Amino acid sequence: MNLGCIADDFTGATDLAALLRRSGASVKLHFGLPILPSDGLSDIEIIALKCRTEALSKAVTDCLKAGSWLLAGGAKKLYWKYCSTFDCTAEGNIGPVAEALMELTKKTQSLYCPAFPENGRSVFMGHLFVGNRLLSESSMKDHPLTPMGDSDLTRVLAPQVKGSVGLWSRIDQKNGEAFPTETHVIGDAVEFNDLKYLASHAPSHVLLTGGSALALALPELVSFASKGFVPCPQTAPRVLILSGSCSLMTQKQVALYKANNPAYQLNPESLSSGALEECIAWLRSQPYDQAPLIYATTTTDQVKKVQEKLGVAAAGALVEKAMAELSRIAFDLGFRRFVIAGGETSGAVTQALNIKEVMIGEEICPGVPWVFGGPNNDPVALALKSGNFGSQSFFRDALDLLESH
Ligand code: ADP
Repeated sequence: MNLGCIADDFTGATDLAALLRRSGASVKLHFGLPILPSDGLSDIEIIALKCRTEALSKAVTDCLKAGSWLLAGGAKKLYWKYCSTFDCTAEGNIGPVAEALMELTKKTQSLYCPAFPENGRSVFMGHLFVGNRLLSESSMKDHPLTPMGDSDLTRVLAPQVKGSVGLWSRIDQKNGEAFPTETHVIGDAVEFNDLKYLASHAPSHVLLTGGSALALALPELVSFASKGFVPCPQTAPRVLILSGSCSLMTQKQVALYKANNPAYQLNPESLSSGALEECIAWLRSQPYDQAPLIYATTTTDQVKKVQEKLGVAAAGALVEKAMAELSRIAFDLGFRRFVIAGGETSGAVTQALNIKEVMIGEEICPGVPWVFGGPNNDPVALALKSGNFGSQSFFRDALDLLESH
């Protein structure tokens, strides 16, 4: 193995896997800490954890275990992957995990760059932009679990880490200035060439961390025993779409899909009082040739109302638990193709389906591939979409791509 990656959620990991797969290197993705020792490894091994909003000490411990597993398997480089909108809580977990991985790999500095220019995420003067809006003015300011109210990544990171925080601005990069001396360095990047510059000019004692796009610059710098693409397995055709993301783009995707397809809305408030049973009965009644959508997706105002009543974590957990239960029932009903919207939601569903390892298929849109796991004679296809990814027709695009195989 040449490159070992740790991702803080499941959709982020599939995004990373899809982008690295473009290089032609063999990529294996593990959901959760692998149980078996690290042998028979691919060029690139990715471990997806569900630790973005996990308690800090657990997140650090799990990432250290993942890092140790990758190093034991011969990883020459470790990469810490988080969201392109730098999703984190006030205390972490981006910075503290980076500090722990620095210690593990004996690196003395870390570089952070979540930019993903292909998807409109760029960093300039340390400020993160989503399209042409600052992060703090984008829909991320209202995220149910990790609201991002500050676009200045140096300011977001500083309270999370013990060491000093600095900026490697695009202007300093263009002027060929040396790598900054602070322990934690935010790197500007507004286009892919900037990411290539960061990856190739960061000194070797620097731990690289960031979104999937910075990692995309790595295969060129490391040699891989390229294996070419392996054809993806055929899956039984029944499809279920589950959406627990409340991101603006998901709201649009749900609105478009439900206009012409069977759809059922879950409300966290009624989940504890029989609404799930009603939804299960609805799912059981769906014709075989339809691709039903079940969604908890709603507007920011509605999310806030529910959170005030139930609490942020409890509301999220209720929805995630329901989505997990629905996916298990759907599996028993013969569904083998699942389109999941939402990072946390994807984690809950993938764990419920007990999928531990996947191969990477074609990308539906930048950063969202179909992936295939489960038993060889009865595989499961998953499209795990993080909130703001994909165009409005994403759900239909995903189904069409799989049908075309
Ligand atoms: P995204 O990728 O858009 O961030 P996630 O699935 O990661 O989506 O996060 C969305 C969170 O919001 C999940 O924990 C989910 O359970 C929760 N959630 C979904 N629908 C609702 C709702 N109607 N009210 C409150 N919380 C919700």
